[in-house]
Amino acid sequence: NTFAEIELGEALDQNIRRCKYVKPTPVQRHAIPISLAGRDLMACAQTGSGKTAAFCFPIISGIMRGQPVQRPPRGVRTVYPLALVLSPTRELSMQIHEEARKFSYQTGVRVVVAYGGAPINQQLRDLERGVDILVATPGRLVDLLERARVSLQMIRYLALDEADRMLDMGFEPQIRKIVEQMDMPPPGARQTMLFSATFPKEIQRLASDFLSNYVFLAV
Ligand code: AMP
Repeated sequence: NTFAEIELGEALDQNIRRCKYVKPTPVQRHAIPISLAGRDLMACAQTGSGKTAAFCFPIISGIMRGQPVQRPPRGVRTVYPLALVLSPTRELSMQIHEEARKFSYQTGVRVVVAYGGAPINQQLRDLERGVDILVATPGRLVDLLERARVSLQMIRYLALDEADRMLDMGFEPQIRKIVEQMDMPPPGARQTMLFSATFPKEIQRLASDFLSNYVFLAV
């Protein structure tokens, strides 16, 4: 039970060593191979379980292995991330961003964060420099979509972190609006990972609406 056995690639392995992660946590051990195999995933996981790495590693690995992408030149200022991580709060988004940056060090994968309750201008400048993985809170992302500064047409990976908390905070309409914008052909081109500490009816409904043929994981 080591990270080397999971075959994430040399660059990621090196970053994992830099982070001093010796062995995968239970959610990582199960979720990462499922995601690397291309399956959608619904995981019940608590804070502190190592879920951030569980969704970041497959995304970074997938972007590095993927075909080079030709992003459409729509508006000059519109950016086309390949992966989106939605999180409920500014604090959690900042934490995910910080970790994702460590994991993607020297991989060429660019991570940008955008959250509400802070001036948008610096975030717009960060986006303009280029983004592969966008970490965002739902409200701020809707704002960026309405300004046509972000397009979700090229999203290959979607991770919803602390989905139950996002619903408790009333973000369901924003989340649905966001996901509607990333339904690009061919069907199944998007891989989705949903993380939640609890699994009430509303989360089950999100899972059945957003995931296809998914693996359910409880650790
Ligand atoms: P998370 O549940 O993603 O918020 O992670 C909780 C904490 O555990 C963070 O400080 C991570 O950096 C750390 N962590 C995650 N995975 C591992 C691992 N495999 N080995 C050691 N620490 C880890």
